[in-house]
Amino acid sequence: MPQPTSSPAQVVADTIVRTVELGVRITDAALDGQTTVLWCELVVGAAARCPDCGHAGVYRDAVERRLTDLPLAGHPTQLRVRVPRYRCARSGCERGVFAADTSSVARPGWTTTRRCAGYVLRRLAVDRLTVGAIARELGRSWDTINGIAVAATRTLLAGDRARLDDVRVIGVDEHRWAHTRHAEGDGFVTVIVDLTDVVAGQGPARLLDLVPGRSAAAVRDWLAARDQGFRDRVEVVAMDGFGGYKTAAAETLPDAVTVMDPFHVVALAGAKLDLCRQRVQQDTLGHRGRAGDPLYRVRRALRTRLALLTERQRTRLAAVFAAEEHVAVQVTWWAYQRVIDAYAQPDPQQGRRLLAAVIDSLRRGLPAGLDELAQLGRTLQRRRDDVLAYFTRRASNGPTEAINGRLEALRRNALGFRNPLNYWIRSLLHCGRLTL
Ligand SMILES: [Zn+2]
Repeated sequence: MPQPTSSPAQVVADTIVRTVELGVRITDAALDGQTTVLWCELVVGAAARCPDCGHAGVYRDAVERRLTDLPLAGHPTQLRVRVPRYRCARSGCERGVFAADTSSVARPGWTTTRRCAGYVLRRLAVDRLTVGAIARELGRSWDTINGIAVAATRTLLAGDRARLDDVRVIGVDEHRWAHTRHAEGDGFVTVIVDLTDVVAGQGPARLLDLVPGRSAAAVRDWLAARDQGFRDRVEVVAMDGFGGYKTAAAETLPDAVTVMDPFHVVALAGAKLDLCRQRVQQDTLGHRGRAGDPLYRVRRALRTRLALLTERQRTRLAAVFAAEEHVAVQVTWWAYQRVIDAYAQPDPQQGRRLLAAVIDSLRRGLPAGLDELAQLGRTLQRRRDDVLAYFTRRASNGPTEAINGRLEALRRNALGFRNPLNYWIRSLLHCGRLTL
């Protein structure tokens, strides 16, 4: 441990505030209302030299730089750093006056110390504080703290070069971040997730980025902005049924396998089943489903997996299917159940065979009156390779959906985001496993 050369009081103050991190020394202190004010001077080794010509400077005067630092004992802290100014002594140098270098304490032009940035990110990501709460801690405005968080996240992303090194499987999905029509990208973002660890059974999904909008361009531009090495390493892209994502992946990653994930296939089949039920309901009773209508009563039972049906639900379904006019619902329901069953197979090859059989059966001329099922058949046929690729690649957007759930919770907790940028930072900090 170094022997103190300052007065004991100064050693105590400098130790408590850890001024060694800042390159300053505390010379005085006072309370100004809720704020603790610390006067400091720079710890400078060598004599100040002119930034233009390198000649030694002659002391001229000093100015004060006011900087917000980490809160102390629950109160905002302001540093008032004495910054000496010098005159360049070399005749003919155009510099005139220059100030001592304070870049160890704070970035040029910033009004907060460097260590505030890391503090703000930790408070946001680890302690889950709001920007407003951190602003109160530091005694600064919401905008200032938000600006620090944006800049610090960017620095973090730019500095973390290894972040994309091991990515082999990515998931692409849409997520609604704002429920207003006027929001950027119509309130939608495209969520890009690293599924490599999930597929390898080694860990959870990791958020890589959020891109405004839901379009082929959103994915294409993001992929195009990565380096070629990254694009070469990606082997699998998991996605929903949106054709734009497929186009983007095919164009930008021509060698990667695209996988349409089970969640979206099952959701698609379920949506067709709902549409069929509503159409038959209208055809048979002439009105939209209401309490007491046979089809309306089984709407949830229809969407329940066969193995999970209660005895009561089975009885109700049997009664509904016994009626001749409900045959379209029954056939569509059976196709829906077969899709689910294929995904539930423990043996992936068996699952693949079953789902291929469902797609084939829907493709071969269905009887009239099964419009919804025919649509499902066309979609699955068009994406047949992507749908069946799941059974060999096991890449699913299920974990992406889990991240979507966390993003949704985040959106609600934050009582709405002011802008997509803020949403982007918070999302990356909460779901992106950035190393702080
Ligand atoms: Zn000079």
